[in-house]
Amino acid sequence: MFELPRLQQQAVGDFHIHPGYSIDAEGTLDEFCLAALSVGLSEICFTTHYDADPQNFDRDGIMVIDGQKEKLSDDAVKHYLDDITRVHQEYGLMGLMIRPGLEFSYYEGCEKHFAELQAKFKLYFRLGAAHNIDGLCINDKEDSTKLFAKYNVEQIADRYFEQLDKLASSGLIDCLAHLDVYRRFGTEFYGDEINSIHRGRIERLFETMKANDVGYELNTSAIRHGHFEYYPTMEIVNAAREAGVRLITLGSDAHCVNQLALDFDMAATVAHELFPYVDE
Ligand SMILES: [Zn+2]
Ligand SMILES: [Zn+2]
Repeated sequence: MFELPRLQQQAVGDFHIHPGYSIDAEGTLDEFCLAALSVGLSEICFTTHYDADPQNFDRDGIMVIDGQKEKLSDDAVKHYLDDITRVHQEYGLMGLMIRPGLEFSYYEGCEKHFAELQAKFKLYFRLGAAHNIDGLCINDKEDSTKLFAKYNVEQIADRYFEQLDKLASSGLIDCLAHLDVYRRFGTEFYGDEINSIHRGRIERLFETMKANDVGYELNTSAIRHGHFEYYPTMEIVNAAREAGVRLITLGSDAHCVNQLALDFDMAATVAHELFPYVDE
């Protein structure tokens, strides 16, 4: 089914995984657990998309359950979390720690809904992401082309970092996902300029993150997107370290089993050299 090289590193966790519950992903929880064991991961966290923006609810407000597209609902979340409990009991015995999480997409006014959901369900890990601006997904080829045509690079930067700041100050997330994912398609559209838009903006975000005990991830999906640096770039990683903002997880952002733990030997080395306390 898949052939993944075994990790050389010890005690590595993948904390950004989309199983087939996400509409844009495939693979059962069992398949991901077996793949995680085969590559030698010690811990995984499932982070299915939670896209509840009323503006895009018809398109994005979906969870796939037993192969059926279901509207995002408390019942759907419960089904997903129960499934994680089941695999945790099954594969935990084989030495794999399995955590329940969600990747929350920001939208205007999301805080109330996220807080209500989190009062009902216990999540181990809450990723927060800025995916949509004006209902257009910055992480999607077609949508991002439309979005970038509407705004110059400075305007995009303002809108994007404003969302991250709101997520970080909400008290409803533990970690910001793929901090500079605007590079994915933005590099081709705007050129090199996109690589510096964090300057003058990220400093304030770092303060918000520290004040709210929010960390960030090293997201290796940039490699399969054809970029040389992870999300975020080493420039941002170094600035975060200087500011005292914590790198807390590695995430492959896998949308199928053969993307699990992508480039994690290198990512774990980088993380450990920069933040030797990361696994302690
Ligand atoms: Zn994301
Ligand atoms: Zn993701």
